[in-house]
Amino acid sequence: MDREDSFYKDGLKFSCKMCSYCCRGEPGFVYISRTDLDRFLAEMNLEAGEFIEKYCRWVPYYDGSEVLCLKETKNNDCIFWNNGCAAYKARPLQCSTYPLWDFIVESKKSWDEAAQDCPGMNSGKLHSYEEITEKAAAYRRNRPIKRHEFEQKPVQ
Ligand code: SF4
Ligand code: SF4
Repeated sequence: MDREDSFYKDGLKFSCKMCSYCCRGEPGFVYISRTDLDRFLAEMNLEAGEFIEKYCRWVPYYDGSEVLCLKETKNNDCIFWNNGCAAYKARPLQCSTYPLWDFIVESKKSWDEAAQDCPGMNSGKLHSYEEITEKAAAYRRNRPIKRHEFEQKPVQ
């Protein structure tokens, strides 16, 4: 879509209000890509197997495969939630790009619908058209690790 046709051609406002709604209290999926995993391993000085056993689960994906995802506690909190994100520096790209995801910025309607659950949207920092398109593309490219691929070629 051309910039002039985009509803966010003049940017969108978003600043996280730290309400934690998107990190806890409801079941969800925080998927882990190779880049996310590498970032975690470097930051936490862990080996892949150790990190996956402690913090991850394999979950069914829409294409029939199983993919890597962060664990949740019994309360449906993200495993890293502890009065805020305990893994903030290494948090997955899914978290760091929210809410500038491709399917959220697809239309004004999808943006407004998502904003009903996120008090940080439509207030605070203005994000430029260029930043939004870059983050949406990064989110789209950031595919979760598939179990069968990982087992063929594990990260050391
Ligand atoms: S729902 Fe929005 S404001 Fe609340 S923690 Fe998530 S990103 Fe921040
Ligand atoms: S990794 Fe951090 S930012 Fe992402 S869902 Fe978990 S607690 Fe929230």
